[in-house]
Amino acid sequence: MSSSPARLLDLQELDITIDQLRHRRANLAQRAELKRLAAAATDAAKAIRPVVDERSELARREKRLEDDAATVNDKATSENKRLYSGTVTSPRELQAIHEEIESLKRRQRELEDHALDLMAQIEPLDATIADSERAQRERDAHVEAVTDQLTIAEAEIDAELESFADKRSAVVAELDPSVVAQYESLRATFGGVAVARLEQGSCKGCHIKLSSVEFDRVKHEPIDAVVHCEHCGRILIR
Ligand SMILES: [Zn+2]
Repeated sequence: MSSSPARLLDLQELDITIDQLRHRRANLAQRAELKRLAAAATDAAKAIRPVVDERSELARREKRLEDDAATVNDKATSENKRLYSGTVTSPRELQAIHEEIESLKRRQRELEDHALDLMAQIEPLDATIADSERAQRERDAHVEAVTDQLTIAEAEIDAELESFADKRSAVVAELDPSVVAQYESLRATFGGVAVARLEQGSCKGCHIKLSSVEFDRVKHEPIDAVVHCEHCGRILIR
């Protein structure tokens, strides 16, 4: 079970590599690109909304004008029928109907002209909306491509992580669980570096020299004993 605490350095090296891989996975360039594309889509949607609203308002008005023109046309048609039905014989009344038809036709033309004006106003809005939709389709295609790239990049890192996790398990299996627990807790405290070499009387974690009394004491500890730096508390590897 228990082996030399020096194996902790191997464990730490593996953990640092695993942390780096996780960091790389979390910060893949594709993630930033997807975020940028999503923000661009939101901005574009916001920008086009008033244009779509204006277009539907103009279309609503245009439709109403066309409906009104159709109603006026129906009226003119029925007046026209009445004019030639033979049921009206009074010249004055016939003249009145004739004038009414002329007036209805003028009204119909006005309504239709107004509707055409609105159609002319709608045209450039339709072009703007079509441009916006095309840009969104391009963004969608880009999102799809970047998502694929991201999936591939993640899978590559995951495969590496898996292989390092296996190596880690093998090292952990050699170590005393209580030493591993100490290591884990120190690692959390020191943001990654829990184990340091003792070189020329100095802790390579905090770079402070051990006192001569402490150095002497540490030197005489059994080789498999876990000793800590008197300054920073890291596990020292002799
Ligand atoms: Zn130290």
